[in-house]
Amino acid sequence: MKICDKLNIKKRVLSFEFFPPKKVENEHILFETLDELTHFNPDFVSITYGAGGSTKDKTLEWTLKIKNDYKFTVMMHLTCITSDKEEIDQLLDNLKKNGIENILALRGDIPKDGLNYHISNDFKYASDLVGFIKKKNFCIGVAGYPEGHLEAVSIDEDIFNLKKKIEAGGDFIITQLFFDNRLFYRYLELLSKNNINTPVLAGIMPITSFAQVDKFKKMCGVHIPEEFINRIADKDDDYVFNAGVEYTIKQCEDLLSNGVKGLHFYTLNKSEATKKILNNLRYEVQ
Ligand SMILES: Cc1cc2nc3c(=O)[nH]c(=O)nc-3n(C[C@H](O)[C@H](O)[C@H](O)COP(=O)(O)OP(=O)(O)OC[C@H]3O[C@@H](n4cnc5c(N)ncnc54)[C@H](O)[C@@H]3O)c2cc1C
Repeated sequence: MKICDKLNIKKRVLSFEFFPPKKVENEHILFETLDELTHFNPDFVSITYGAGGSTKDKTLEWTLKIKNDYKFTVMMHLTCITSDKEEIDQLLDNLKKNGIENILALRGDIPKDGLNYHISNDFKYASDLVGFIKKKNFCIGVAGYPEGHLEAVSIDEDIFNLKKKIEAGGDFIITQLFFDNRLFYRYLELLSKNNINTPVLAGIMPITSFAQVDKFKKMCGVHIPEEFINRIADKDDDYVFNAGVEYTIKQCEDLLSNGVKGLHFYTLNKSEATKKILNNLRYEVQ
């Protein structure tokens, strides 16, 4: 089923994101996580595409496996910065043939060792990919950044560019992870001012270890409230895990009470934190 159709009929949606395990010996972890999370009955699950297309075969393999074995509605992530039209065209035909109807269309990060990668002449930005995919009648998600994409000069410029993705055919937006709901609500207001009325699903990722604080700040440029950082500094792993889960429960409850259209959990192929969060929410997600 197309995610767009679910978004049309449902008040809100729940989704989980997984990555394809690189090593065969780690595949059981994803299977166990899928088994654990199945009973939450997600509206869709999504499978990431390795940077520079490094996991493209595995991404496709897992997208099909999860669709066929678990009967979930699936969305495949697809980055374009290292691909040409011909390659994407073949992949889209393959997806169509296998009944995959949903794609998260991304540019991808520009590889740091760019010289070893072919940089696409066909797709400079995700909007180029969205326009190309749209002709083939897929339902298309795009990425949004409540605090602005790291390369963007300003949030206004980033929203100006996001609008190009929507005008090219993006059907819904999934956000980068964030920890400060005020920034998410400000983002929704800015989208509305720019006449972007596409559904926005909030990207959720609990902090489960102290090392993630620096990682998320550097990788995504997100603001993590100082009060929370102070609370978990110098604490043991169990404390940090529980505090991160508790923080995310409150964050999700606030989002749900303010009418968020969906929660998209970045699971990192683990089930424990997501399970605890969903089991303890005071509101129905779906
Ligand atoms: C929900 C989600 C899932 C993700 N999944 C993956 C994944 O599976 N694999 C992976 O490798 N990465 C993934 N990413 C990361 C993503 O690939 C990076 O953030 C990447 O740097 C940007 O991709 P994008 O699609 O947002 O790019 P774009 O929308 O193309 O934007 C990239 C930058 O270019 C600017 N820009 C856009 N269009 C124009 C234009 N026409 N002119 C000038 N500037 C422009 C934007 O403002 C932004 O700064 C994901 C991100 C999110 C939020």
